[in-house]
Amino acid sequence: MDVAQTTADHLRASVALVKITVLSGGVGGARFLRGLREHLRLTRPDGGSPATTTAVVNTGDDMWLTGLRISPDLDSIMYTLAGENDEQRGWGRLGETERVSGELRAYGIGWPWFTLGDLDLGTHITRSHYLRSGLPLSEATARITSRWDLGVTLIPATDDEVETQVVVDGGSMHFQEWWTRHRATLAARSFVQDGVDTARPAPGVIEAIEDADVVVVAPSNPVVSIGTILGIPGIRDAVARTSASVVGVSPIINGAVVRGMADACLSAIGVETSALAVAEHYGARSQGGIIDAWLIDESDDAQLDALAAAGIRASAVPLWMRDLESSARLAGDAIAIAQR
Ligand code: GDP
Ligand code: CA
Repeated sequence: MDVAQTTADHLRASVALVKITVLSGGVGGARFLRGLREHLRLTRPDGGSPATTTAVVNTGDDMWLTGLRISPDLDSIMYTLAGENDEQRGWGRLGETERVSGELRAYGIGWPWFTLGDLDLGTHITRSHYLRSGLPLSEATARITSRWDLGVTLIPATDDEVETQVVVDGGSMHFQEWWTRHRATLAARSFVQDGVDTARPAPGVIEAIEDADVVVVAPSNPVVSIGTILGIPGIRDAVARTSASVVGVSPIINGAVVRGMADACLSAIGVETSALAVAEHYGARSQGGIIDAWLIDESDDAQLDALAAAGIRASAVPLWMRDLESSARLAGDAIAIAQR
């Protein structure tokens, strides 16, 4: 594709845009959001009619640990957008130390395989303080994120405690134990979102989806990140009926996950690790699903015909978010296809 033309398309697409809502997990979602923010900065240099970006964030990985509420996906996004995340390690705070974790281990509390960094603990203590004083997670998140100039509003998908449990042979365990302690090596039979049936979308979630011009399903884990968000009663329906166009970005490139172990989650729900299979899993909105358009990697362009046959408008573009520039370009591609 002609580069100048693509940029012009991106420019035109963004100028008319006002509200963008992104359904997001942790690392993949954070990278996409950082790229989207950059794309909007580049295409709106005058700062006129700024686009508002809202991220509806998965909370299924959250848990209470050592008396503190941990929200890994919210924090991954916050640290990434604040420029405070450890790029080398891929998670947590830049310049982190682990003195407190050493003490917790010495006392024998917490999970020895789940290190809470000292700076990170500041966030968890603050969140737990707000929750204990009676504030919902969404308000706690608003207060915590107000410290940084994120350029994106973060809303937890729900204020209620919904925790993903992984069913393995002989029992079940919290998602974090399966993922971090066992590195997703125990065969998962299914995923159960404890508390999801009675959970309500957090204030602002449904509005953010209904009032958006574009809804993006981030390149996040389709099962435990996006699947958990969509499982909260009311959210899937809002995505299905919004007048926004809904575009998804494949977390799968060339039959493999890019970072992490999401393939272990997909196989547990019987979905093949391919961009096409994940798109079919989400389904075309015209046929009762949740997406109108889908971005796949250039290396997967052989799947374009099958996607069209499934009623999904698709485009093959570079999907690797290697740096800010490639992430921004991908965000621009997502907006462009949403508006096509
Ligand atoms: P988690 O909550 O930290 O596991 O992160 P997410 O749920 O947001 O995202 C995990 C997914 O992001 C994995 O399935 C990866 O394949 C995907 N992912 C990570 N980096 C990239 C990237 O550069 N490009 C694309 N397309 N997907 C990515
Ligand atoms: Ca996560």
